Amino acid sequence: METIEEIIIQKISHSSLHLVDWDHLEFGKYNSDHMLVCDYAEGEWKVPEIVPFSNLSLSPTALALHYGQTIFEGMKAFRMQDGSINIFRPRKHYERMLLSAERMCMPAIPRQIFLEGLQRLVELDSNWVPSSQGSALYIRPFMIATEARLGVKVAEEYKFIIVNSPVETLYPKPIKVKIERDFVRACRGGTGYAKCGGNYGAAFYPTQKARQEGFDQVIWMDSRENNYVEESGMMNVMFVIGDKIMTPPLSDSILDGVTRDSLLVLARDAGIPVEEKPIHVDQLKDAFRKNSISEAFGVGTAAVASAIQMIGIDDLKYYLPSGPFKVMEFLKNKFNRVRTGLDPDIHRWNHVV
Ligand SMILES: *Cc1c(COP(=O)(O)O)cnc(C)c1O
Repeated sequence: METIEEIIIQKISHSSLHLVDWDHLEFGKYNSDHMLVCDYAEGEWKVPEIVPFSNLSLSPTALALHYGQTIFEGMKAFRMQDGSINIFRPRKHYERMLLSAERMCMPAIPRQIFLEGLQRLVELDSNWVPSSQGSALYIRPFMIATEARLGVKVAEEYKFIIVNSPVETLYPKPIKVKIERDFVRACRGGTGYAKCGGNYGAAFYPTQKARQEGFDQVIWMDSRENNYVEESGMMNVMFVIGDKIMTPPLSDSILDGVTRDSLLVLARDAGIPVEEKPIHVDQLKDAFRKNSISEAFGVGTAAVASAIQMIGIDDLKYYLPSGPFKVMEFLKNKFNRVRTGLDPDIHRWNHVV
């Protein structure tokens, strides 16, 4: 990797590490001591800086606040068995952030600033990487349009920032989901494949409505026919039907999850058949009728995998078997073993710093 010639590092004078209650790391409650900030203006990226975590100073007319030019990533660093720190698949997250930036007309972040800046930041805040089983340092790179202008336009000034937050293992309870027929998360030609702020804001309302109806999440459907499964909440979705893992193929309305990709690779390594094909709701109903569906789960960085216990399809409730989801548990366990160095990293996903 090309190295950054300069990176300005301004260390905190007093760490807030002692304020952390390591037994209760609610998601996003704590921020590590430092953050990386890099400004873009006059057509170029300035020198990245690692500075104490602090509030930003922005003009009230900063364009991100009005027209939604904001993108983000979510990834994790783990404490390995030998004490070293592993940032999981940073290049894949970097490439996805470039795609998001392109879709939102934002400038590409240079590879060295993202990857090396990330590494330096994690090294500096290495004490913030928890070591208890399943916990991790959640890493949130993001970019916002900072140019102060009220007119609707593509901004000419941006900030790229990385902040970190120690998080504990999530053991999500099996959730109830609803096939969402009235609202869509993403449409063909839209921004569904990009991790841009607007996608999430637009998903709150349907999700709240589903909660009022007694569900935890919605299953998003395709925008054209309203018949094909796309994602589960903010996670990709997988089903085990007749011993095969089935998941919708990537498209411009499905986010290319790093967890999705990794779990599919691990499944194929283990000889579990995987099918990436459009999944019609009728196919799900049929599988419930024939009892051939054994598992349904969402997959994403925050929880790795989250079991689904019930799917509401057009006023009917379909229940998954209540026993442990064997395929899901196998994949989750294998995934965690690779990320913490217990099993060999044959796909070179680990970036040990
Ligand atoms: C981030 C995200 C995912 C999961 O991606 P991971 O890289 O596995 O965390 C899935 N769907 C949506 C809509 C997302 O924003």
